[in-house]
Amino acid sequence: MNISLEFFPPKTEQAQFALLESAGWLNDSLSLQYGSVTYGAGGSTREGTLQTVRSLQAVLPAVAPHVSCIGAAREELHELLKGYLAQGIRRVVALRGDLPSGYGQAGAFAHAVDLVRFVREAFGDAFEIEVAAYPEVHPQARSAQDDLRHFVDKVKAGATGAITQYFFNSDAYFRFVDEAHRLGADVPVIPGIMPITNYSQLARFSDACGAEIPRWIRLRLAGYGDDLASIRAFGEEVVTDLVDQLTQAGVPGIHFYTMNRAEPTLAILKALGLTRPGSEIQ
Ligand code: FAD
Repeated sequence: MNISLEFFPPKTEQAQFALLESAGWLNDSLSLQYGSVTYGAGGSTREGTLQTVRSLQAVLPAVAPHVSCIGAAREELHELLKGYLAQGIRRVVALRGDLPSGYGQAGAFAHAVDLVRFVREAFGDAFEIEVAAYPEVHPQARSAQDDLRHFVDKVKAGATGAITQYFFNSDAYFRFVDEAHRLGADVPVIPGIMPITNYSQLARFSDACGAEIPRWIRLRLAGYGDDLASIRAFGEEVVTDLVDQLTQAGVPGIHFYTMNRAEPTLAILKALGLTRPGSEIQ
């Protein structure tokens, strides 16, 4: 099973240290394909992303920086990608990104498809390019069909794979993949998995990114109130079942939104027998 993990650039030195410890532990416990590092739109985490990519390269077998194009100039993106190539990066996650409110600058590219085209034109086949996919539809899409067509366009422009927004309903994922394949987008579409550890944070993220928390899960989580241990135990059960369903159906890989923590991801993989023998949850 191809397993990839997503991290974000930590804000403090202490959090950076904790991230490297988590990443090292995950790498020792799993057969890991790569770790990816998010990038704040408009370059807001540029230095943090660069530094985190460099640090993780020392710990993981491969690192894939996210690159978001909104608000960025063509030359800036060219410099960034040239630097990544020089430091041995061979995979990027190409995104549009979301501009922070009040940030007015449009940049050279309006959509991720333009960035994918640019990376192919400027760097040929130097990078594997992952793009974002939305089984439950991107929140700004004009329609589900329109969103699917835009996804297919990213693949036709040169993306070699895709990672989905997280979801808790596997039907949405399977239907999306079938329809994308029917339209000629025949690349691996890796399900993005969000471990559940904190209800209010999950509810906030889900509202913003258009991921649906099914009613029964929402109500169960809300019903636990401040009982974090029960939220975690129930969340682990639900997400383990989801990953089990997906792996049994033969998905081409799994991408975990780790939130920079090792335990929630490891607990799910361990329950499914996908950790290396002998690796322990500490
Ligand atoms: P696009 O593919 O450009 O799509 C955005 C919207 O525009 C969609 O509604 C689409 O239907 C529409 N659209 C696309 N092409 C066209 C067109 N030609 N004409 C008209 N409409 C069009 N954000 C960050 O800022 N940093 C990150 O590191 C980051 N990592 C992510 C990783 C993953 C796996 C995922 C799923 C999302 C990530 N995001 C990140 C969030 C992402 O940037 C937002 O969801 C953003 O709103 C859309 O980015 P996109 O690349 O999907 O955009």
